[in-house]
Amino acid sequence: MATKQNDVIDKFSYLSIKTQQETETNSEINSLWLIPYSFKCGYSFQCPLTFKQLIDRQMSQKYFQEILTVTEQNNKFYDFHMRLRSQGQYGLTVDFIYKNADDQSGPIKDDACISCDMNNQLSQLSLIRQNPTTYIWLDTQLRNKLIVTPRRHIERLSNMTKEEMAQFWHDTQVVLDEEGCDWQSMVLNHGKYREHVHLQMKINIEQHQWNQYIKKKYEKKIQQMQHLLKYNENNPIETYVGHQEFNQW
Ligand SMILES: [Zn+2]
Repeated sequence: MATKQNDVIDKFSYLSIKTQQETETNSEINSLWLIPYSFKCGYSFQCPLTFKQLIDRQMSQKYFQEILTVTEQNNKFYDFHMRLRSQGQYGLTVDFIYKNADDQSGPIKDDACISCDMNNQLSQLSLIRQNPTTYIWLDTQLRNKLIVTPRRHIERLSNMTKEEMAQFWHDTQVVLDEEGCDWQSMVLNHGKYREHVHLQMKINIEQHQWNQYIKKKYEKKIQQMQHLLKYNENNPIETYVGHQEFNQW
C-alpha cells in the first residue's frame, strides 16, 4: 500500500515537474490568447507574452496568423485597423477596430504604389534599410514613425507566407534594437482603413526617443525630405496620398 502511494506521489511530482518545464519552454499558443474581448469599436486579444518574447520564442508568425484567422476566416472582417499595444511586462494587446469601416474611404483608386516604385526621390530618401523580404522607411509625412513593408506587393498580413511573416516581425524587432528605440504602438490598416494599397506597418515612437535617436541619426535625410516636400512643384506626397487628412493612427 505504502509503495502504491509512493508511486502515485512520484507520478504526481513527475507530472508537476513536467508541466513546469513545459510551461517554461512551451511554444504553443494558448487558446485563451485567441479569445476576442469586445469594446466599443471592435475587439482585443490579450497575450501574456511581450512582442519580443513572441519573437524570441519563434511564436510571432503562429500567434498573428491565429488571431487573423479568428478575424478574417471566422468573423469575416476584412476591413480593420489592427493595432499592437505594449502592456510592458504584462504582455501585448492587439486591437481590431472594424465597427466604423463604412466611414472609411480606403486607398485612392489608381494610387501609384510608393512602396514598389523606387524611381522617385521621396522613396529613395525615406528608405533606411533593405532586408531580403522587408524594407524599413522613415514616414513620408515626417511623423514620429518607422514604416515596415514587405518587399513583395502584398495587401494583407494574412497573404504573407509563413516564412515572410516570421521574418516581418523579426525584422521589426531588429530595427528597434538597432535604432535603440521602444515602440508605443504598431498599426496595420487593412481593407478600407488603408491609405496605401501596399501593406505597411507604422511603428509609433515616443517623441523624446525619436528626437534622441532617429532624428539625430537621419538628420540629413529628414532635411532633404523636408526640402523635397516643400519645394517640389509636383509635390510627391500629394501624388501618393492625395489630400487625405493625416491619419491619426
Ligand atoms: Zn506595392
